[in-house]
Amino acid sequence: LQTRQLRRQIQEHQRSLEQQVEQRTQELVAAHAAKDALLRLVAHELASPLTSLKGRIQLLDLYLQQPESLEKGRHIVGGINRSLARFERLVQDLQDTHHLQAQHFDLQRTRCDLVEVCRQVLAEFREGVKTAPLAEIVDEPLEGDIDRQRISQVLLNVLSNAYKYSPQGAPVMVRVWQEGKQAVIAIQDHGVGIAAEHLSRLTEPFYRVPEIQVQTGSQTGLGLGLYLVRMIVEQHGGRLEVQSQQGQGSVFSIVLPLLPV
Ligand code: ADP
Repeated sequence: LQTRQLRRQIQEHQRSLEQQVEQRTQELVAAHAAKDALLRLVAHELASPLTSLKGRIQLLDLYLQQPESLEKGRHIVGGINRSLARFERLVQDLQDTHHLQAQHFDLQRTRCDLVEVCRQVLAEFREGVKTAPLAEIVDEPLEGDIDRQRISQVLLNVLSNAYKYSPQGAPVMVRVWQEGKQAVIAIQDHGVGIAAEHLSRLTEPFYRVPEIQVQTGSQTGLGLGLYLVRMIVEQHGGRLEVQSQQGQGSVFSIVLPLLPV
């Protein structure tokens, strides 16, 4: 009887081990496939600004051979700069993500007026868009202990998304106010919006809402922007809040702690 019991125990143990191996194998296969998909996405996203760069440089080369086309050449240089900037942003986002995940991401914090930072980002942003964002910003300074460059990156990212996921010409509104010991910077758009089931995943690295890409035809982006936004804001002791309704638009609010006056 004892031998039979022992044999049964061994068989059960063996079955459980087999199940564990099977499960682990499936996990590894899935992880491998995800890594493959990720590499494909990164390669595709990096290739697209490079392709447009190459085309524009060829055209520029042509124009430079005809003195009467100098003006056209200047126009092409503008396009080259835009493609380069897009390429640079993608590489920067990949580098930032790598540094964050390796925990080598340090903030250079100083006492800064958030109102002034917002105004500066808005001024720079206005130059690149047809319909400028509307702004409702408090008059008095709101001082925080912030990494100015990183917070500018955050604002620029959320603002760019507001345009990227809205029809051309749709208004974008930026509001800045004080709420107790915190500053709130809210960026509202009237774009495609986000369905409830995607909201909690928006700030995962490489996450993109699948239907949105179809609706807007916009294929650019690695899905790293909001991940970096959340990480930077949280490293400042703040938080990112998202309210959205599909088809209506979204409000992304960046909440940051203020320094005592
Ligand atoms: P990317 O824009 O590069 O895809 P982000 O991390 O900035 O990556 O955004 C993640 C996803 O969240 C986007 O792919 C898009 O689906 C969705 N999203 C971001 N901002 C908005 C917005 N203002 N309106 C609608 N969807 C948005």
